[in-house]
Amino acid sequence: MGDRSTFARKQSAQPRQQPQEQLFDTHPEVSLDFETVRQAARQKYNRPFLILDTAIVRGKVRRFRAAMPRVRPHYAVKANPDRRVLKVLVQEGAGFEIASVAELDILLSMGVSAAEVFYSNPVKSRDAIAYAAAKGVEWFVVDSGDELRRVYEVKPDAKQYLRIAAPNIGSDWPLSGKFGAGVGDAREIVALAAKLGADLAGVTFHVGSQCRNPENWRVALEKARSLFDLMTKAGLKPRLLNIGGGFPVRHVKPIPSIETIGAVVNEGLKAFPEDVQVIAEPGRFLVSDAGYFVCRVLGTATRAGKRWMHWDAGLFGGVIESSEGLKYRVRTDRSGPDIPWTVGGPTCDSVDIVMRDEPLPSDLQEGDFIYIKNAGAYTTAYASQFNGFPLPEVRVFESAG
Ligand SMILES: *Cc1c(COP(=O)(O)O)cnc(C)c1O
Repeated sequence: MGDRSTFARKQSAQPRQQPQEQLFDTHPEVSLDFETVRQAARQKYNRPFLILDTAIVRGKVRRFRAAMPRVRPHYAVKANPDRRVLKVLVQEGAGFEIASVAELDILLSMGVSAAEVFYSNPVKSRDAIAYAAAKGVEWFVVDSGDELRRVYEVKPDAKQYLRIAAPNIGSDWPLSGKFGAGVGDAREIVALAAKLGADLAGVTFHVGSQCRNPENWRVALEKARSLFDLMTKAGLKPRLLNIGGGFPVRHVKPIPSIETIGAVVNEGLKAFPEDVQVIAEPGRFLVSDAGYFVCRVLGTATRAGKRWMHWDAGLFGGVIESSEGLKYRVRTDRSGPDIPWTVGGPTCDSVDIVMRDEPLPSDLQEGDFIYIKNAGAYTTAYASQFNGFPLPEVRVFESAG
């Protein structure tokens, strides 16, 4: 049975990792037991599935809180909106971050108080703002004067928080090219809030998803601190600091542990008064390593001398992040020597290529299971029925451990 692991082999063959990577690798990461996953696949397989152990989600929430006692996690629902996952997060005392009213509705139907929900999508329709406000949502993000005005017009007493641009160096998904006000824009937005009398009451940032560089949090916290001062000078009352998401999980590359990041964050937080409410919006960190995504080899082909295999789940079926640069750890039941494979999904779309020239066992064949480790986030949440292929199944259980 192969842990795909040209990677693992290469690493252990090296004398030692780079000093910086050693520092990053000091805390072992948890993940779902592989034998449990194999058994689940052998017992029943109709279509690709995500199998997820909520005991691991509970452990991750607790570990997050222990690493940053001053920071309350508000789970980013988009990472995995399964109700059974959300329920466990409610039980563990997490709050929530939403991007849409549909996400809000799920939470409200589960009895979550709207006051626990942060609406962190920087561009929301007027209808969406009004709907959320009517349901009791109090906090709304903005990263432009246009949005500040719009939120203010729909809900004059809304508590708004300003998303600032943060460094995204060393993040697998740099986001700052899209959202977040730069210094000049932030000044103008603060001035506008003061002029209108809008309650611009906090600051947020997102260091980029799967952020492997703790420095980003340090720099972003310093920027937030300066903005607090600027807001106070303008007559505003800043009282919320939202440090966003981006906390990484283990795949192939080394990551800093949550404790390492926590040490940097806790230090940065000392510059903020005690009565400032501090939250974070972890998505990936809380759910990724609770799950394995399982699919199957649909067929193989040789094209222009290259080996191809097609899985029954590709970019449209849940395995999209690999196309954007994330290297998953892929396991199989084969042990043949690795050869480069190009992996396609089941659809006829030419973009449906999961990875190119990846070292995987040469003897993989039709019907074999593919097990993708730590895939509880941003898999099923992205899946569509494009080309008529079914959505993956989501199997949730809670282990005793
Ligand atoms: C997606 C998102 C998150 C969660 O990001 P992760 O990298 O999964 O932790 C948090 N906040 C906002 C505003 C987001 O868009």
